[in-house]
Amino acid sequence: MCGIVGAVAQRDVAEILVEGLRRLEYRGYDSAGVAIVDSNSELTRLRRLGKVQELVDATEQQEVAGGTGIAHTRWATHGEPSEANAHPHMSSDISVVHNGIIENHEELRQLLKDRGYSFESQTDTEVIAHLVEWEMREATSLVEALQKTVKQLEGAYGTVVMDRKDPSRLVVARSGSPIVIGYGVGENFLASDQLALLNVTRRFSYLEEGDVAEITRRKVTIFDLSGNPVEREVVESNAEHDAGDKGKYRHFMQKEIFEQPTALINTVEGRLTKDAVITESIGVNAAEILEKVEHVQIVACGTSYNAGMVARYWFESLAGVSCDVEIASEFRYRKFVTRPNSLLITLSQSGETADTLAALRLAKEKGYMSAMTICNVAGSSLVRESDFAFMTRAGAEIGVASTKAFTTQLSALLMLVTALGKERQYVDAVKEAEIVKALHSLPDQINSALSYDKQIEALAEDFADKHHTLFLGRGEFYPIAMEASLKLKEISYIHAEAYAAGELKHGPLALIDADMPVVVVAPNNELLEKLKSNIEEVRARGGLLYVFADESAGFEADESMKIITMPNVSDITAPIYYTIPMQLLSYYVALIKGTDVDQPRNLAKSVTVE
Ligand code: GLU
Repeated sequence: MCGIVGAVAQRDVAEILVEGLRRLEYRGYDSAGVAIVDSNSELTRLRRLGKVQELVDATEQQEVAGGTGIAHTRWATHGEPSEANAHPHMSSDISVVHNGIIENHEELRQLLKDRGYSFESQTDTEVIAHLVEWEMREATSLVEALQKTVKQLEGAYGTVVMDRKDPSRLVVARSGSPIVIGYGVGENFLASDQLALLNVTRRFSYLEEGDVAEITRRKVTIFDLSGNPVEREVVESNAEHDAGDKGKYRHFMQKEIFEQPTALINTVEGRLTKDAVITESIGVNAAEILEKVEHVQIVACGTSYNAGMVARYWFESLAGVSCDVEIASEFRYRKFVTRPNSLLITLSQSGETADTLAALRLAKEKGYMSAMTICNVAGSSLVRESDFAFMTRAGAEIGVASTKAFTTQLSALLMLVTALGKERQYVDAVKEAEIVKALHSLPDQINSALSYDKQIEALAEDFADKHHTLFLGRGEFYPIAMEASLKLKEISYIHAEAYAAGELKHGPLALIDADMPVVVVAPNNELLEKLKSNIEEVRARGGLLYVFADESAGFEADESMKIITMPNVSDITAPIYYTIPMQLLSYYVALIKGTDVDQPRNLAKSVTVE
């Protein structure tokens, strides 16, 4: 779930390890720890509840020498957040860090207690340390002990083991939680995400499911699930060096909101001509597959689910293909019917979302025609396990609350919808040219939407002392309202709900009073008149309205209604465009409330547990 960093080097690695953890802070965590061994087998373990900075301070107060070490940020799943539960966990000479969950930890704990081990934490992780310690008694090497250990583990994990008596190596296993190996000169590294290591190396290989690897200063040996030595391709990363820096921005979220014009340019690059979508850019044989698609099933969680909900309107209206969207944690445990010629699409920023990954694996068994993912992280599990991966290329997204991943997902989805409609002869050349023109215009339009920054900052004052907010939209702007409400909840902790505006009179209208701001997304489309009636329903009951409206929509502000006038943009890309002021609104409300914008309480970035 959270962060792992490891190093085997000649130089002292404490700084490298904690810097790596710092770069992974964006994932959300509750505690951090490090264990380092020097060449005389002297081990130092430091753990702190709270921020990585506490650990940095601790490593500065106490000189930590040693070239081999493991470090971890924990997002508690078993046992409260506390120093005692923070990783690394130890069993005699063995130290362990672990991401994920060991599902059979209770029975293993009992077995290990029967063998005489005593437990110092409430975590599931500690069983790994004791199991390795036990296996080491018979095994000829640490890697063999880990191989024997992982055979006994059920669940999803990435885990790294260090033996104090032999500081020349680390061993690591991957099963359901990503691990990347970083290659240096006379030193090697590993991490749960390459971002952690970009300041020490650019050369990486990615462990595959079931892999176990041994890392020394000069050598990396990888074994597959059956224990056979395997080669995993080493690739040069071109990820941005400074992805982990805020630059001139106060928060990563703010930086990422402002990066959207560039992110959107990167998403469409090489995929569009002046007036057409290049179907092959979706994948080898994409045209052949898309031609046969009769149904689309989207599976996603959180913000990605909201992107899927917008796309549902597009798939049906622009490509003439029926589309269902479902939350991954529901889909995976439901007895569903697979439609003929159905294309499964998973959406995920990280590509490691546990529920979405499980849904993909299940769908593959259930006979979907093809499985595609729209994802932001190359080499992630969803990317590797899908038939097609359409990368969003938004760049590293660090703020827990997703922004640029959402808008780039939407533009990727719109390209896919267009290609699908074209291959099925539903979208003609004129329509295609109209969509492509709208996509090309979007980065500039978003730049202009970002210039509403100050106006929205002022508006945010009205929300900061409220306990609730209602967001309304119709058609594909209903999921934009859903995303706006999710954003506000996530970072400002204000309770927010989104309704399809036509649904108001069926219940939520009862909530309307002067303490309930109502935000309306009001582009000038064929539903505008209906929306205006819904707005009147709120006004008549004394509600306070904030309407983000197209300049030609004909609204007039008064004491019960503030109008934020937006320039006219294409109907097709308007959902992406209207997302921007919603993001800015949440951001500024959170700023006024003084919440932890980039790492909201209780949340993690990449949700690799169920
Ligand atoms: N399940 C482990 C624990 O609660 C690891 C959690 C994580 O992925 O950080 O300690």
